[in-house]
Amino acid sequence: MMTVDIASELRYRRLFETAQDGILIVDPATRLIIDANPFLLKLLGFTLEEVIGRELFEIGLLADEAANQAAFRELQTNGYIRYENLPLKTKAGREVAVEFVSNLYKEGDLWIIQCNIRDISVRRRTEENLIDATHIQARRTVELESIVDQRTAELQLSNAQLETFVYTIAHDLRSPLRTMQGFAQLLVQDHAANLSPTGRDYADFINTAAQTMDRLLADLLDFSHISQQKIQLVPVALETVVKSALSGCETAIIESGAHIECTPPWPMVLGHSATLRQILVNLIANAVKFVAGKPPSVRIRAERRENDMVRIWVEDDGIGIPAEFQERIFQVFQRLHSTAYPGTGIGLAIVQKGVERMHGRAGVESAPGKGSNFWIELAPAPVAAPKPIRKNGTP
Ligand code: ADP
Repeated sequence: MMTVDIASELRYRRLFETAQDGILIVDPATRLIIDANPFLLKLLGFTLEEVIGRELFEIGLLADEAANQAAFRELQTNGYIRYENLPLKTKAGREVAVEFVSNLYKEGDLWIIQCNIRDISVRRRTEENLIDATHIQARRTVELESIVDQRTAELQLSNAQLETFVYTIAHDLRSPLRTMQGFAQLLVQDHAANLSPTGRDYADFINTAAQTMDRLLADLLDFSHISQQKIQLVPVALETVVKSALSGCETAIIESGAHIECTPPWPMVLGHSATLRQILVNLIANAVKFVAGKPPSVRIRAERRENDMVRIWVEDDGIGIPAEFQERIFQVFQRLHSTAYPGTGIGLAIVQKGVERMHGRAGVESAPGKGSNFWIELAPAPVAAPKPIRKNGTP
């Protein structure tokens, strides 16, 4: 019957013969190779006879005798060596990258060194290809970013040109419009006797249409101004701007009988006071306008969000906005209730453009019949550094 030792010896032998990694056995006393498996012999191009009795550096595994001595010193000290990427030279002079792991251990009464040698050239090539691919990708990303930058600059330029064009048109159209309006009024005032009732109605129509168009052009000019004016962002006291916006809407508030509730606290924000005032005026004017058959109730408040921004809310209990229109109404001339309520459809576009210029965001939460909660988000004003304390203890 086969003993356990013989069985394990056979098993080891089978592994040694069939391993897909190189294995070398070295005598630590003489540093000479005493065995090598077929895989290693094939990798190196030597026969077993050619490697037995040689030192590692002689078969191209370590660069030279000095490297050989250093490796054995390390092995004596630590019992273990590992070289992750060792260039091995085959008999034919070809260089192969290998991972070299060597262990010193006792087998029965004998000390032996086992070296495991793994060919990592394919892995290295794959890694190098990956590094190359990463470099190519990085270069392409830089190229793409520069194309995007260039296109953005072109787009900004053409947007700026378009905004200038809108300004010029709106500005220049007002003058002939005023002439038309003026003459229509004169016609009614000075020549009423010569006009039939229908003729007077026509003159009134011209007048009303001219007034509407004038309001439209004025709002377009405001929009253009908000888009083009140079603004510098500074700490702004919200409370002051809210008060000023409310006084700007005083007539609309009084006429609608609105109840306005302003809820402190009012943090300082980083913004542009005139632009912020204009935004709040537009939001408050809408809040008191879009109601059905009851005095509006409006709440204005501010809160610090989780993203550290300050969100300012203008909440009403008016007619509300269906979800599918809530984004669109921030674009120029987009109106949902054009016949029932006066307006030009530019107010929210000004809100949007204004917050954009202050690096903020705007939005609305609303449902038909449930009121609308408009919000804008701005960065908080940076906290001023404390004044240095003088030597006598006063700031
Ligand atoms: P305008 O008020 O001149 O019509 P805006 O740009 O301010 O133009 O608003 C666009 C549209 O969004 C309005 O016509 C209206 O349909 C809708 N809207 C704005 N604010 C409110 C609000 N608070 N409640 C309901 N609808 C609103």
